[in-house]
Amino acid sequence: MDRGTSEDVPVLIVGGSLVGLAAALFLRWHGVGVLAVERHAGTAINARAGHFHLRTVEILRSAGLEDAVRRKSEEQYPPDGGINNVESLAGREIANYFPNLNAGVDEFSPAVRLFINQDALEPIIRARATELGARLRYRTECTSLEQDADGVAAVIRDLDSGTESSVRAKYVVAADGNRSPVRERLGIGMHGHGLLSHSITIYFRALADLGPLLADRNQGVHYVTNPLMRGFFRLDRSGNAGFLVVNLVGDTSRPEIVAAFPSAPWANVAEGITEQRALELLRAAIGVPDIGVVIDNIATWRAEANCADRFRDGRVFLAGDAAHVVPPNGGYGGNTGLQDAHNLAWKLALTLTGVAGPGLLDTYDAERRPVGELTVEQAFTRYVTRVAPYLGTENTQPIVDDFSMEIGYRYDSPAVVLEPGSPPLHEHPRESRGRPGARAPHVFLVRHGTEVSALDLFGRDFVLLAGPEGGAWHAAAPAAARRIGVALDAYIVGSPGLADAGGCFPEAYGISPAGAVLVRPDGFVGWRAADAADAPEQTLRQVLQSLLCRGDGKP
Ligand SMILES: Cc1cc2nc3c(=O)[nH]c(=O)nc-3n(C[C@H](O)[C@H](O)[C@H](O)COP(=O)(O)OP(=O)(O)OC[C@H]3O[C@@H](n4cnc5c(N)ncnc54)[C@H](O)[C@@H]3O)c2cc1C
Repeated sequence: MDRGTSEDVPVLIVGGSLVGLAAALFLRWHGVGVLAVERHAGTAINARAGHFHLRTVEILRSAGLEDAVRRKSEEQYPPDGGINNVESLAGREIANYFPNLNAGVDEFSPAVRLFINQDALEPIIRARATELGARLRYRTECTSLEQDADGVAAVIRDLDSGTESSVRAKYVVAADGNRSPVRERLGIGMHGHGLLSHSITIYFRALADLGPLLADRNQGVHYVTNPLMRGFFRLDRSGNAGFLVVNLVGDTSRPEIVAAFPSAPWANVAEGITEQRALELLRAAIGVPDIGVVIDNIATWRAEANCADRFRDGRVFLAGDAAHVVPPNGGYGGNTGLQDAHNLAWKLALTLTGVAGPGLLDTYDAERRPVGELTVEQAFTRYVTRVAPYLGTENTQPIVDDFSMEIGYRYDSPAVVLEPGSPPLHEHPRESRGRPGARAPHVFLVRHGTEVSALDLFGRDFVLLAGPEGGAWHAAAPAAARRIGVALDAYIVGSPGLADAGGCFPEAYGISPAGAVLVRPDGFVGWRAADAADAPEQTLRQVLQSLLCRGDGKP
């Protein structure tokens, strides 16, 4: 076999779907050279992910993509859709999970939750990643990875020509999906609830608008619960198209069992699925027996709830479905993966430039694996509650509310200076109020006459926000950052350059007007001082050393 050329790249990304593309975008955002290789010929061809959470939209905003994503979303779906559970689209409503997807979000975020299909989102992320200089290679497979002390030697194969070439990378991000060949090769196991169902997705067009069947319910995601099937619809804005996921079908060959619903044994819908059978299921889920529908495609897939035992092996990092795979209930898979990539990007950037100590990369597993495990459990709980109640609640964890899941998960690692009494893993954003380890809160501010969110100040470098009487912290920041060699922006919130008209900032961030907060490049609070201190420069130096995992710089 011709081994072709050889090239060097700081980070090789294996897999160029949602999470691989996001990793390419965020790494380029931080100036890191990347090459992403993807087996397929282009971005996703099917919708799959469609429900995107507040935190995801916030980080897309920080990379300049919020407007493009919202525009596309509004073409595809009503902006404030709902999520409910019905016997059929035309039938009785059983439960209403989100009457309006965005009820109450403006208290916490400048962004909104939205529906956008994965096959429409991926090209937007890809365009921005390439605009920033990412190299993406399609129809290209990574066939081997060998690590040594200095880097990773990879072999990639052009699937059209069969030509193999070598890539030498400092680090590898494995965004190669739920069956992750890289994870397998590294021998990293998975733990969780295992296989839940063999499922199908029926992509369809209807010859009539299905919207009116919903009466006064908001169009969006509609779970379907009836004796024939368990699954959900995603119905687009036109009401004429969408997809139906069927997770489980009742064993209709045994009427006495169907009659005994909901404790019937559920059958594998994917096995031997035909277009005729899919049509029957689709019509039953719509609830209008003779409705005209055209099936465009049927995809089969496995609903699973598992998390990898480790997210890191030396120089290789697992992200997205390679690291955790969840049933779609709650819309966690792609969101969690995007947030993995966002967490990892700045750590790789600061490690590659030598600013961070080697321990910073360990904090990827320390921070993201607990979030992955929490997410697996919460998606499983939602699967059981919404789709498979017959599984019982013995192995489920109590529901954590959606705001806590989306913007309330917390990090506990050496890259955070934790305060005593910090709660574990998640906290409602109304409670966390700038506590280290939590996402920095949103407050509206006015910067040079323009309204911004505090979140708009974050995303690239460390940021020090001092209260209106925190001038000493602000003055000390440049010298401290210079000594450490790290980029840091510093602001006094409540100053002519950055006005806090409502005076909300100190309370929102849990400090006095003389205090200060240090926010990491991913928008999470790394440290805060409730008040003024005697030696602010020295304190900030020690804090930065600590957050960057450099030596023992304990504050
Ligand atoms: C019906 C359905 C609905 C869903 N709804 C939602 C939702 O509403 N919200 C949400 O957030 N998530 C949702 N998800 C989950 C979401 O689709 C996945 O979490 C997401 O696609 C994971 O992205 P990924 O990039 O990690 O993996 P994948 O999308 O699986 O991509 C992995 C890529 O790696 C490539 N690859 C693998 N090995 C190699 C190799 N050796 N060399 C080169 N390329 C390789 C593959 O070709 C593939 O393109 C849903 C999923 C389904 C099935």
